[in-house]
Amino acid sequence: MYDIAIIGAGIVGLSTAWQLQQRYPQKRIIVLEKEASVACHQTGHNSGVIHAGVYYEPGSLKATFCRQGVEATISFCQEHGIAYDQCGKLLVATDALELERMQALYQRCHDNGLDVELLSAEQLQQREPNVQGLGAIWVPTTGIVDYRQVCEKMAEQFIALGGEIRFGQTVEQLDETHEFVEIVTQNAALQTDYLICCSGLQADRLVDVMGLPREFAIVPFRGEYYQLPSDKNNIVNHLIYPIPDPAMPFLGVHLTRMIDGSVTVGPNAVLGWKREGYGRLNFSWRDTREALGFKGLWPLLFKHLRAGLGELKDSWCKRGYLKRVQKYCEQIQLEDLQPYPAGIRAQAVMRDGSLVHDFLFVDSARSLHVCNAPSPAATSAIPIGNYLAEKYSDKLKSVLN
Ligand SMILES: Cc1cc2nc3c(=O)[nH]c(=O)nc-3n(C[C@H](O)[C@H](O)[C@H](O)COP(=O)(O)OP(=O)(O)OC[C@H]3O[C@@H](n4cnc5c(N)ncnc54)[C@H](O)[C@@H]3O)c2cc1C
Repeated sequence: MYDIAIIGAGIVGLSTAWQLQQRYPQKRIIVLEKEASVACHQTGHNSGVIHAGVYYEPGSLKATFCRQGVEATISFCQEHGIAYDQCGKLLVATDALELERMQALYQRCHDNGLDVELLSAEQLQQREPNVQGLGAIWVPTTGIVDYRQVCEKMAEQFIALGGEIRFGQTVEQLDETHEFVEIVTQNAALQTDYLICCSGLQADRLVDVMGLPREFAIVPFRGEYYQLPSDKNNIVNHLIYPIPDPAMPFLGVHLTRMIDGSVTVGPNAVLGWKREGYGRLNFSWRDTREALGFKGLWPLLFKHLRAGLGELKDSWCKRGYLKRVQKYCEQIQLEDLQPYPAGIRAQAVMRDGSLVHDFLFVDSARSLHVCNAPSPAATSAIPIGNYLAEKYSDKLKSVLN
């Protein structure tokens, strides 16, 4: 019998487990993960950016957690000797519409309490000789890190405090009774007083397995990247982002300096046909059938039809993809776009087709399901874990003996 079981060894599950074990050192806490190691899905396939908190609705959980997350992630890295670099980022406007949107974004930075600077075209050119734009926002607090390394350290800390992680355990069945939750995997069964699901791309399925009602579904959005050849590693000094369309949830194809010194281009955002299939041709009947059968997908597709078709075209046509980055960095050429693994975002969509922008939780007497933990949830993972431990502390205390 366990006191708390957590499903998912991505960054949200591990951060929560590690913080709960600190808070309840005597309790038996277990993490169940279907893969063979930590961070196999979203957490291990992301851009590795420690986001400063530019874009998010002031006062939202996303904005609050992100601000706290920058500091928390950096102190975690400092304490445990994990490489990170607070290299800063530039949001570059390349036409009149983007200049207008840049002003709105600049205001949002202020509303979110960020210390940022507006740069003219000349100032941008001085900072980034290979980047062309009419102006930019300079965000000095943005950084980079390898989130897989952060997860490995969190797992190590959790185990050192007495926690347990079992890999290769796919949770298939969940039954909640008055006394406990029974968890069944493909080869084991165990009981826990309290269950926390941090299962990313499978979040809606575990809500169903638990028999809880839900108004959302997870829609997978592939994020495809390229990598620049190593002789272009110094093409930029900072992270370079376009000014995003505020109607879209994703940030646009950017140039990201990775912590290993390489530079990636991406990610785009196209509908995925397999939730955990990273190859371009990967396809799952189950995932596709469920996505197409979900009522909310259709209004979403119609609303963003033009943008969606544009993303799809450029996913298959490298020249189209190249144009997105050449808008602000003409030096990058077709042969510079070298293959790099894709990532897949777990985006919760409501039945009416609206995208869930903030975090979304579903709970029952003995369980809590993190149903939407979109970017920047890697940055925000430490405050999210703290929030879950805090918010549910009364409930936890009442169910923990
Ligand atoms: C392309 C891309 C770029 C991004 N860039 C950034 C960025 O630069 N900065 C940032 O802050 N955020 C970024 N994000 C967002 C961030 O990566 C995610 O929000 C975060 O990793 C979510 O973590 P998680 O633990 O919720 O999910 P995951 O990392 O997906 O972990 C969920 C885990 O649950 C396990 N699981 C699922 N079902 C079961 C089951 N039935 N039984 C057992 N285990 C199960 C899975 O195997 C998985 O390991 C990006 C995301 C993507 C996809």
